[in-house]
Amino acid sequence: MSKFNPISGNLMFDALKNDKTIIMACNTRITKGIVKGIFKAAKKTDSAVIMELAKSESDLSGGYTGLKPKDYAQITKEIASEVAFDIWSLHADHLTIKKGTPEEIDEMKKLIDAQVSAGFTSFALDASFLFDFNGKTVEEELQKNIEVTVELADYIKEKMNGKEFGLEVEVGEIGKKNEQGMVLTTPEEAVAFINELNKRGVFPNVIGIANGSTHGNIYDENGKPIEQISIDIEQTISVAEAMKKEGFNTRIAQHGITGTPRELIKTKFPSESILKGNVGTLWQNIFYEVIKATKPELYSEIVEWTLTNFKETAEKKGCKSEIEILGKYIKFAVGAKNDQGKFIFFDKIYSLDKNTEKALEARAYSEAVMFFEAFHASGSAGKVRDFIKRTA
Ligand SMILES: [Zn+2]
Repeated sequence: MSKFNPISGNLMFDALKNDKTIIMACNTRITKGIVKGIFKAAKKTDSAVIMELAKSESDLSGGYTGLKPKDYAQITKEIASEVAFDIWSLHADHLTIKKGTPEEIDEMKKLIDAQVSAGFTSFALDASFLFDFNGKTVEEELQKNIEVTVELADYIKEKMNGKEFGLEVEVGEIGKKNEQGMVLTTPEEAVAFINELNKRGVFPNVIGIANGSTHGNIYDENGKPIEQISIDIEQTISVAEAMKKEGFNTRIAQHGITGTPRELIKTKFPSESILKGNVGTLWQNIFYEVIKATKPELYSEIVEWTLTNFKETAEKKGCKSEIEILGKYIKFAVGAKNDQGKFIFFDKIYSLDKNTEKALEARAYSEAVMFFEAFHASGSAGKVRDFIKRTA
């Protein structure tokens, strides 16, 4: 085993759970140049880092990144080894169960099998959609989420066969809105959820909550890109404090950070409560920004394809500008296949010239350094190394 293979997420979370550090988790939907830039930044600042893709982004047929779990694992492991960076985990983000049917759960188990054999070291079970609005108590409302989370957590444990792993769970659908605005997770919900999981032998390291963030790029009512300042910091602290008061070892995983001003993160985020911070769409934005300059023809083709395929859907869903449509739907281009099942853009994207790759790497490097700074993560890898030595 290479000493640059991913370490168990559990070790990283345990080592840093009482630290003022947010571990950056990167959904690198396009790995070209970007993963290397991030790993180099992690090495330079000695920051623990997580590479992750959600089920929608990477499943047994490739998801919308076109990468199967084994492809993503192979690419990230190769680059970690090339850069010689050791403190990173390979995480399965949003293993989303939407209905909770036996078929859906069986499908998920197959994906978990593939992730385990590819060497994933951390998993996020997301059954937050299974909320029972007719439940009379918080426990009743969460019953289905609890059952599915326990079943799949036990399954991962069995498949990992004694190997430690990181575990993330989710309560409250991220980005959900009603007439009053964003629907936020309450401290009571989080406590009841973790309590029920603990009773059943499941001890998550982190929990994703609905706290006012939205996944991906965000826009105003005219379709103009805006910064994200909607994360409810007070609510986040209340949830984290309520869990600490119970003595839980579960901290918060902040989803949907793209678009949040880094000075706000650095100065206002409760980094002693948030342990994992997901940055996804930003890396994709960088990719398109770079190829727009270095490969304008390919960029135009992708833009054209996105607008042709998604303009109607996007407008129905309320998108107001071309920028907004692209910002929300261009993600489907990389893994897109034609009628013959052949990739449309994937091969071009993964055979970009050296200069483009260098530009991607440099942009990712600089963004990652700024994030590690904002996340108070510099030096965190050393703390994880010490923790591993102490507990070995
Ligand atoms: Zn998320």
